[in-house]
Amino acid sequence: MSALDALYREIILDHYKSPRNRGRIDDPTIATQGNNPLCGDEIEVSLLIDQGRVADVRFQGVGCSISQASASMMTDSVKGKSIAEVLGLIQAFKDMMSAAAEPDPDTLGELEALAGVRQYPVRVKCASLAWTTLLEALDLLARAPSNA
Ligand code: ZN
Repeated sequence: MSALDALYREIILDHYKSPRNRGRIDDPTIATQGNNPLCGDEIEVSLLIDQGRVADVRFQGVGCSISQASASMMTDSVKGKSIAEVLGLIQAFKDMMSAAAEPDPDTLGELEALAGVRQYPVRVKCASLAWTTLLEALDLLARAPSNA
């Protein structure tokens, strides 16, 4: 294992053992659930949107270390960002997972630690679950003008 792989592994394990933003927002602007039946991962993402920004985001769920660590890293990455920035980040993450583009460290930050998951196609769904659930929440929000 290279030093970089070891560092990435450590970042993922740290998020799994000490998840950030875990729980549920009391009165969320929107909350969405997602699951990955292949692995049994379940995630609920709740968002508080204020003036087009993610004022707060939390997740709860059960599942493998990759799914839960990725959810924790997702919440850390999107908190405080505008919805447009979040949509850009979701796309950058998807591109990284599908190997459509080389990871952009400036955009992805520590999320790049999840790039190694690409070697394990089954795990890509685990890593992507929180992100597809987040995207679904934002899609629902976009279709509900009263909440924007
Ligand atoms: Zn999983």
